[in-house]
Amino acid sequence: MEKGKLYVVGFGPGSFDHITARAVEALQESDLIIGYKTYVDLIRGLLTKQTVVSTGMTEEVSRAQEAVKQAELGKKVAVISSGDSGVYGMAGLMYEVLIEKGWTEATGVEIEVVPGISAINSCASLLGAPIMHDSCTISLSDHLTPWDLIAKRVEAAAQADFVIALYNPRSGRRTRQIVETQRILLKYRSPDTPVGLVKSAYRDRQSVIMTTLSEMLNHEIGMLTTVVIGNSSTFFYDNKMITPRGYQRKYTLGSEKQPLKPHQRLRKEAEPWSLESMSSIDEQITTEVVEKAPTIDLPFQKVSSLDMALQALSMIDGDEEELGEKAITYVQQKIESIFELAVSPGVANKQFTTKQMTTLVEVVGEKGTMEYTPNHQIVLRIPTSDPETVTSKLSNAGFLLSPIGDVLTVKACDFCDGEKTDAIPYAEEIQRTLGGLSLPKELTVGINGCGMACYKAVMDDIGIVFRKGKFDLFLGAKPVGRTAHPGQPVAEGIPPEQIIDKVTAIIEEYKEKAHPNERLFKYFKRVKEIQGYKYQDMAPKIEIEPAPCGD
Ligand code: SF4
Repeated sequence: MEKGKLYVVGFGPGSFDHITARAVEALQESDLIIGYKTYVDLIRGLLTKQTVVSTGMTEEVSRAQEAVKQAELGKKVAVISSGDSGVYGMAGLMYEVLIEKGWTEATGVEIEVVPGISAINSCASLLGAPIMHDSCTISLSDHLTPWDLIAKRVEAAAQADFVIALYNPRSGRRTRQIVETQRILLKYRSPDTPVGLVKSAYRDRQSVIMTTLSEMLNHEIGMLTTVVIGNSSTFFYDNKMITPRGYQRKYTLGSEKQPLKPHQRLRKEAEPWSLESMSSIDEQITTEVVEKAPTIDLPFQKVSSLDMALQALSMIDGDEEELGEKAITYVQQKIESIFELAVSPGVANKQFTTKQMTTLVEVVGEKGTMEYTPNHQIVLRIPTSDPETVTSKLSNAGFLLSPIGDVLTVKACDFCDGEKTDAIPYAEEIQRTLGGLSLPKELTVGINGCGMACYKAVMDDIGIVFRKGKFDLFLGAKPVGRTAHPGQPVAEGIPPEQIIDKVTAIIEEYKEKAHPNERLFKYFKRVKEIQGYKYQDMAPKIEIEPAPCGD
């Protein structure tokens, strides 16, 4: 008699695009397909000559027993599960039924578990990227698992800040479990925590809803819904649910220039949150607590950081009952990342006040950095979980705030310390309308208040020089490098009321048509004409050997 075989096949969410090639092969190699009726219907289009045995929802044990029986009779049998057969599917039950019969791999029928895409993965792909960090799945079905145990797992996962995918959240009879789960989660997570509800992922009646922990029960949740609860750092962006992996702790995601060089990134001091760094803090605290507070009733064995923190809080507040809530607050803290921005006293103003300098010291602190730039700005890099407070303090101190990176920066002269004021309103208007605009590459608009052009506007990407009541316009300077050259004088005597529109039109064209990373002078050279201004080669006419450093 030919030897039988058991395939335990997870066929993924249900569309043929998301079933693995091995799963299709296993189904087509089988003589017999055994499964829940709804699942069999989903894969029927892949079947050829196979006999199908489909049964109802609570018939898993009889399906497993029948599959084993038929395999032992020499048939190739596929037992099917949606998603992954090893995640709330049939794989475990198949092994349990075999073990009851004394099965061993050496002597019993061959078994192959064919993995599939589980709902946590398929639903996550429709929501954006919500399970980028530690996550867990919890089934709210208490038909086979005591509710006390499920509630304990929800509580632990909520406390530990896992992203949680809830399977089997509600059915016709089981309606209280999701309500109770929300109540537990709200003890530990903000009501605004992002939640994704995905029903019938990759099937005909697919629906995706983005909501929050407090609002989620106002939407339809049923047996075909997977509920994905974000962790304390998950956020919504443009109808996507995203959980950061933590790159923002070390890297500046909007800039090519990183504050930490590659050789610094794995150093202990660059990872103050790591176990190694925390251990040295633990040791320091243990020593200090034991030396300075011998009356604290610490257990004899090694004390964890959390225990010590709770002890310390109880001493401060004298209210041990509140300690749980304080620990919870810690879990909900926002993640600290490096916040970068540039500040200056104003477009024309170059003088810092005492209040501005003390505000800088306050917001930058000991861990941040300040870097003065040729654009008359100070670039701040501040580790913080609260950028809004930082910007509000800087604005209150009278700073002009600008983003950094590939943005438009306005760089003006000081208009002879405010004596030659005619062009200042135009400089301020350009800053107000175009300053900080995101562009294919960084771009500086230089504005000088007289023909002396002593702040070198002609060496900026766009140079504007006020002269005899009108503006001269220079385009396409190459501001740095050994082949640096000034901008090409493209127009003289532009009436003041036209200058802002002309500059705006140039910027809009460059933003729309330049390649990523293409500086304005390169774009001008490539297209030969911007807004009617014809290109002339301003580069030095002598041959310059390429420099090893890149220019
Ligand atoms: S460019 Fe003219 S107005 Fe501006 S600081 Fe120099 S001399 Fe004064």
